Amino acid sequence: MKDLLIDQNSGDSIKVKVKNVVFGEKEKVIISGPCSVESYDIMIRIGKELKDMGVHMLRGGAFKPRTSPYDFQGLKEEGLEIIKAVGEEVKLPIVTEVMDARDIDNALNYTDMIQIGSRNMYNYTLLKEVGRTKAPILLKRGLSATISEWLYAAEYIMSEGNNNVVLCERGIRTFENYTRNTLDLNSVAVVKQKYRIPVIVDPSHGTGLRELVPTMSLASIAAGADGLIIESHISPDNSVSDARQTISMESLKNIVSGIKKLEEVL
Ligand code: PEP
Ligand code: MN
Repeated sequence: MKDLLIDQNSGDSIKVKVKNVVFGEKEKVIISGPCSVESYDIMIRIGKELKDMGVHMLRGGAFKPRTSPYDFQGLKEEGLEIIKAVGEEVKLPIVTEVMDARDIDNALNYTDMIQIGSRNMYNYTLLKEVGRTKAPILLKRGLSATISEWLYAAEYIMSEGNNNVVLCERGIRTFENYTRNTLDLNSVAVVKQKYRIPVIVDPSHGTGLRELVPTMSLASIAAGADGLIIESHISPDNSVSDARQTISMESLKNIVSGIKKLEEVL
């Protein structure tokens, strides 16, 4: 790959600002919240706990890309309203997924950062459309994407004029089936060594198993990641989606303090 906008040779390393949060600085950015926005009551309780423990941003899906069309598809507009209200109340910037280019303009009335999900990493129309905005974009790695394909997806966004791209490694599909996906930390090392955009890790989708999330969170930071996005809930077993990989507030607190310790030695 050469002559790419994401290449280190093409300019200074890119720092992506989302309100008061900056990706690509010494401080690691921790994003957390439920897989799906479920209700205002649950979201506000989660949001307050996250704020108190020092998490930097709030996540929650309003448009959910589910494997089965009969599974919960998200609260859609109502979900956007809830996550925005909670973000403002607890003073945390928010990130939520947009699945359809037609929803971008409206989503930007609510969210501080747009997530492009794994299943949409190859949706070049969607990539170009978010590239025409100035919004910060969290670009997840496709579930079967090579590192190069993922980097080219970032290039699609940047080549339209939007440099505010943060990559997110979320695991890839391999022959291994003990875990939901195989969390490829090689990709993090590659991005940090050769490219100039920030990269974070999603150990929740990367493992699919909540008991592996603390270990793989620390491993991600040790591999050089600029942050983490972790699914958490006040009652993990009752999460409407991805319960098996969702961690408790207690577990998240331990991860946050572990990251703080790691930051001192890195
Ligand atoms: C998510 O973050 O809720 C999600 C659906 O992730 P992915 O696109 O990585 O599967
Ligand atoms: Mn999920």
